[in-house]
Amino acid sequence: MLKRFLPNEHVKSIFEIQPNELKDKGIKGIITDLDNTLVAWDVREATPEVVNWFKQMKDHGIKVTIISNNKEERVKFFSEPLNAPYVFSARKPLRRAFKVAAKEMGLEREEIVVIGDQLLTDVLGGNSAGLHTILVVPIVQTDEKITRINRTIERRILNYFRKKGKITWEDK
Ligand SMILES: [Mg+2]
Repeated sequence: MLKRFLPNEHVKSIFEIQPNELKDKGIKGIITDLDNTLVAWDVREATPEVVNWFKQMKDHGIKVTIISNNKEERVKFFSEPLNAPYVFSARKPLRRAFKVAAKEMGLEREEIVVIGDQLLTDVLGGNSAGLHTILVVPIVQTDEKITRINRTIERRILNYFRKKGKITWEDK
């Protein structure tokens, strides 16, 4: 049952995810989380590095959709300057937002990767939707209250995977 929480890949940050490698694997679209994946949860705007990452993806014909459980005001303010489609109040880990994003990008399941920093929302949701999932290290270790509870559960699941030899990366 815990298999649903196991990401297909793990990287330190989004900047390790490069358009050429995605293209080689036949990937044409990204569904990414916002808070603590693209920027720290309390940072309102994309950093120059993030702006550049979006541009690189676009230049290589890779579509990027932001899906976030956060409110419209936050997600819209962040996404619009990037010209990125977005889904707010996405209710991850429910599959619906992932399906909507995939459909709007006009891509098949095999052509999409999901990026996020949380097992209980991003990875579980992406896996449930049948998508390839990539876990990133959260940008900051502080979180909003609700997320702190999730983190405790998450640490237990990660420890379980580690004991079973399913994951090899180290915690910071
Ligand atoms: Mg997040």
